Amino acid sequence: LSVGVVRESAPGERRVALVPKAVERLVKRGLRVVVEPGAGEGALIADAAFEAAGASLGNAWSARILLKVAPPSAAETARLSPGTILIGFLKPLSDVDGITALAGAGVTAFAMESIPRITRAQAMDALSSQSSVAGYRAVLRAAETLPRFFPMLTTAAGTVPPAKVLVLGAGVAGLQALATAKRLGAQTTGYDVRPEVAEQVRSVGAHWLDLGIEAVGEGGYARELTEEERAEQQRRLTEAITKFDVVITTALVPGRRAPTLVTAEAVRGMPAGGVVVDLAGESGGNCELTEPGRDIVAHEVTICSPLNLPAEMPWHASELYARNLTELIELMVDSEGRLALDFSDEVLAAACVAGQEKGEG
Ligand code: NAD
Repeated sequence: LSVGVVRESAPGERRVALVPKAVERLVKRGLRVVVEPGAGEGALIADAAFEAAGASLGNAWSARILLKVAPPSAAETARLSPGTILIGFLKPLSDVDGITALAGAGVTAFAMESIPRITRAQAMDALSSQSSVAGYRAVLRAAETLPRFFPMLTTAAGTVPPAKVLVLGAGVAGLQALATAKRLGAQTTGYDVRPEVAEQVRSVGAHWLDLGIEAVGEGGYARELTEEERAEQQRRLTEAITKFDVVITTALVPGRRAPTLVTAEAVRGMPAGGVVVDLAGESGGNCELTEPGRDIVAHEVTICSPLNLPAEMPWHASELYARNLTELIELMVDSEGRLALDFSDEVLAAACVAGQEKGEG
């Protein structure tokens, strides 16, 4: 059974689906790993390092199991042979055309976004691993942009108070952002509509902002707010945000437009030099003024909307992602290293978004 690792073609995508350590593990399981030359270049992994781990270099596109990071472009989908098992981030809820094209090409596709958030599948949870990277990098971006210190300093030239950082949405990215900002010495506050995360927010040394609006949805996710709740939330947040130098937003509702949490009025109320880092840009953004993919300045506040922060830290982002993929592949093979797709397994059934077997079992 062959596993292929291709060179990512999306602009700015520096991650690679497997790292040498993961190759070693798959080879030990009896799989043959083929790496497209240059696939690891963006993540600073040389072809020779893949070879040393037991992979061969060559045409990875004809492998039975094909691993990717970003969704395949139309041209890439055209290169896939029927019967290929594709695994990667595939945007199953937003890229209907892409998924339809994969199904049409006779590909069996597994979307990493659709791995269920259950305990057994935690090691395969690529949304979480990449969100941790994004949360961490978002804080570094904010710290670099803010014209003041994050930590409190007591110096001969005077005392500097700590920066005040607010994180909206305390899921995986938000909690990592809170922890990172705390390590840099900022005074941190977290907010979410799921009250059960209050304890997690406090456990990373942050204050919990309670606005009295709860919206617990299914599967550990938030639900969309009603019209009235949304207006009330925006009103209360607009007031709260004026007290913060930095606002990092991570709020998402699966399959929906991201909620607007930071209004233009809230931005106007922030101190001059303030920074908003909006991690929800791909889903429309959490800030009313966000321009997805761009950094802009409005009311003397910088609003950053990076779309792929994990790609800016490709070493560890790739290492963690490779581990997620390896765990999933191991669920697909028997002890002899032969393909054994069991669609009665809830993880495989949920992650499969295209293919003849979809829906069976
Ligand atoms: P996400 O990326 O979908 O959303 C980020 C955060 O935004 C969430 O905490 C959500 O509650 C919040 N949010 C949504 N709408 C909001 C609004 N209007 N106002 C304020 N906040 C809003 O979430 P995620 O980071 O992927 O994690 C979601 C949940 O899944 C978490 O509880 C996490 O602990 C859980 N999880 C479980 C497992 C597991 O058990 N295997 C793995 C990973 C995550």
